[in-house]
Amino acid sequence: MVNLRDEITRNIGAIREKIASAAAKSGRNPGDIRLMGVSKFQPLESIYAARDCGLFLFGENRVQEREEKIARWEGPSVECHMIGHLQKNKARKALELFDCVESVDNTELALVIERVTRERSEAEGRTDGRCPIMIEVNVSGEETKQGISPEKCFALIDDIAVKCPHVEIKGLMTIGPMTDDEKKIGAAFAALRKLRDDARGKSGLILEHLSMGMSGDYTLAIMEGSTIVRIGSAIFGIR
Ligand SMILES: *Cc1c(COP(=O)(O)O)cnc(C)c1O
Repeated sequence: MVNLRDEITRNIGAIREKIASAAAKSGRNPGDIRLMGVSKFQPLESIYAARDCGLFLFGENRVQEREEKIARWEGPSVECHMIGHLQKNKARKALELFDCVESVDNTELALVIERVTRERSEAEGRTDGRCPIMIEVNVSGEETKQGISPEKCFALIDDIAVKCPHVEIKGLMTIGPMTDDEKKIGAAFAALRKLRDDARGKSGLILEHLSMGMSGDYTLAIMEGSTIVRIGSAIFGIR
């Protein structure tokens, strides 16, 4: 029988090598690229195995699943980002469970995050509490994808920046197009980077992060400037 723990350890080692070589090829510092383990549908044992390899950033796409895992969690805690569609009525709960919501694509959701974060800060007697989020952009325009269209991205960022002082927009997130065509995939990631650079100029926000690249396309994303690669199956095997 294949030992799951050994397999996860091997996978993470191999991914780190690929991240380093993609960074080297594009003249980037590998330390500027964070590896996120996408642990949706994975048992805690697998997540612990990844944590034992020094992975402390994970992504989940369902509030309830994260809640169930936290309830049974043992050992050192990890940073966890919400990467799936978040309904407004689950935002309050999500903010108790996640360190960042990467999948914000509308002002209404940001306003709920704003209100919950403000109430929380006030309850704790603080004035500096801000909730980190990212804007999910549908760069490829595929109908099945969540995310704001690139054309509406600046307006959304402006709107949130004006209306939500307790929300901190950390950057942009996208899911690459569903194709094997590496040119198309690279172009989509380059488009997100350009959007970020333009938004940075227009808004004055730092927008440090580009969360882009999954198991099948993370080296391409790194070549185009990704700072967070979200990797599930290449670490944990098929779900
Ligand atoms: C599932 C998921 C991933 C990871 O996908 P893999 O192809 O298994 O690496 C990354 N990002 C999001 C938003 C996801 O839902």
